Amino acid sequence: MKTETRSTCCYCGTGCGVVIDAEDGRITGVRGDKAHPANFGRLCAKGAALADSARLDYRLLHPQLRDVRTAPRRRVGWDDALDHAARRFADTIRAHGPDSVAFYLAGQLLTEDYYVFNKLAKGLIGTNNLDTNSRLCMSSAVAGYKQTLGADAVPCAYEDLDHAECVLIAGSNAAVAHPIVYRRLEDAKAANPNLRVIVVDPRRSETCAIADLHLALKPGSDIALYNAMLHVLLKEGLVDRDYIAAHTEGFAALETLVERYTPAMVAELTGLEPEAIVLAARWFGTAKSALSLYCQGLNQSWHGTHNNAAIIHLHLATGHIGKPGSGPFSLTGQPNAMGGREVGGLSNLLSAHRDLGNPAHRAEMARFWGVPFVPPKPGKPAVELFRALKSGEIKAVWIACTNPAQSMPDVAEVRAALEAAEFVVLQDAYANTDTAKYADLLLPATSWGEKEGTVTNSERRISRVRAAVPAPGEARHDWQIALDFARRLGAELGQPLTDKLFPYTTPESIHAEHRASTCGRDLDIGGLSYALLETAGPQQWPYPEGAAAGKVRLYEDGVFPTPSGRARFVAVEHKPTAEQTDPARPISLLTGRLLEQWHGMSRTGTVPRLFNGEDEPLLKMNGCDLRHRGLEPGALAKVSNGRGEIIVRVESDEGMPRGRAWLPMHWGEQFMNGYGANALMPAATDPYSFQPELKHAAVAVEKV
Ligand code: SF4
Repeated sequence: MKTETRSTCCYCGTGCGVVIDAEDGRITGVRGDKAHPANFGRLCAKGAALADSARLDYRLLHPQLRDVRTAPRRRVGWDDALDHAARRFADTIRAHGPDSVAFYLAGQLLTEDYYVFNKLAKGLIGTNNLDTNSRLCMSSAVAGYKQTLGADAVPCAYEDLDHAECVLIAGSNAAVAHPIVYRRLEDAKAANPNLRVIVVDPRRSETCAIADLHLALKPGSDIALYNAMLHVLLKEGLVDRDYIAAHTEGFAALETLVERYTPAMVAELTGLEPEAIVLAARWFGTAKSALSLYCQGLNQSWHGTHNNAAIIHLHLATGHIGKPGSGPFSLTGQPNAMGGREVGGLSNLLSAHRDLGNPAHRAEMARFWGVPFVPPKPGKPAVELFRALKSGEIKAVWIACTNPAQSMPDVAEVRAALEAAEFVVLQDAYANTDTAKYADLLLPATSWGEKEGTVTNSERRISRVRAAVPAPGEARHDWQIALDFARRLGAELGQPLTDKLFPYTTPESIHAEHRASTCGRDLDIGGLSYALLETAGPQQWPYPEGAAAGKVRLYEDGVFPTPSGRARFVAVEHKPTAEQTDPARPISLLTGRLLEQWHGMSRTGTVPRLFNGEDEPLLKMNGCDLRHRGLEPGALAKVSNGRGEIIVRVESDEGMPRGRAWLPMHWGEQFMNGYGANALMPAATDPYSFQPELKHAAVAVEKV
């Protein structure tokens, strides 16, 4: 039988709608959904290859368990697997307390999956040790929004691209990382040749093809650049004093601070010409509408929160926010990083954008869940979580849908942590990720095309994800696995509330509880039922009960969700990268993405045609830097620092300034003598977001 199923792409935060064609339980094709407002039928290379990736030869299809690390895993039934996991977790909790266990999840999970895990950790077990790979992705954007605008809420929508007169793209290679957003920008530029595009990136990326001005700043000098742009805006009278006076606070301190950030002074810090900085500021300040698009280049920094704040300042100072074509627009890396945060899926959050550190929020959630209390002790964010696993403070970890043995910074330390752990559970759709070998228990999960739920994309739009084919082998849905484990663990711990806490029978029943938890909050989706999504299609939040539509744009009234109702300027100073180059490690290594690949390639790596662009990782360097090292294009080079070394082929790229190199982050142990690019990255973290600096390391590059 042939079927057509509307769903959402499982890769980037653009959140494109897809139509899945299936026949007799097999996915036969994937098309763009013309009715979906994120993509209107378009798909990029990854999305267009989704049908080819729906294959079973790389899948984990049965639970597997080993009793001791040295033994091979053996196939077991679900009951044995989950009983064993519940006993091990319960024994650990009884002996060492709730904080001796942890959960590490992923922005690939659906909102409903996240909700159950979050309640399991924070409601049933009583630990806030639940973090996700969103910590590596958007946590600095979150902290930046909260520091300045008061809430983790993207104020813009994709349609703002159609109205912008100036677009500032910072730390984002949207042409390959968010290709359908980029296509829309190309359309906007074609429709309005006067639209000015500024790209801020330490290298000439693919996105620079659309740039009227490319600012190839030194890595880590973002704050200096945006402070200098604000300096110019002030000097040239291009700030909106009325808007600042009516809707913001804290400007005087920042105005004093940026007095020192003259274009001439900042030219040294950024490596940019003063005239280029002035030009960028003038374009931004004189445009009737200005939009900024930014991503990991700002976030993955040990001062990522202030990178975000510095760019948001430009919008607040000029009043370019809350209007068509204007606003700071962080592009979400993963398909559901935002949905995960909506249910509190980070170690410092609770459901519906509540803060763990807020006693009133903890009390609200305890009441809502019907538990005596939510523990006040902050959970461990990703880097700390794995450090605690290595030190023995955390003894058992449950990992779902992510591959930390490849994706975390300083990978060798994370692998040592997984080796040191007493019990590692990995719940995943794929059998052979770098993390799988460390798992004592492997649990097969369903994947895209097989599961039901919702995701939230970069513009706050919630879309349905739908199953087109049945689960393969013995795979179960992520929310079901968490639920079955929670019920068993509750029984082991003698927790009488377990059945009441986990009454769910379907993703819709989980979503209904999540919706109820948002009522009255900034992201209120009380009116956004599955039934409404079915009839009205994907919608932006907030969408409270009784609403006729979601909100395209936030802060149109100039009122912000802070105690005073005003947006906040933060006095942010330039801070260099966590590591400086030196004679022993003279190259600044940057990392990024390729158009055809996604994350650690668990899925895209199964599709041969997605290797047509690059079939191995190539280190891009300036030709002079290669010649200086006796390296011909195509030669093998050793890239190393104190954390590790990788062997990789080099490519000459005149878009790379001298002293910088670039490496894709997709490959892991399968290609690079056991390690991928993140093995070289420092685990230095931002003090507010705890996001690690995955974008820059000082390295040596030598001929092999
Ligand atoms: Fe999927 Fe992102 Fe490509 Fe859209 S742009 S098809 S969401 S990978």
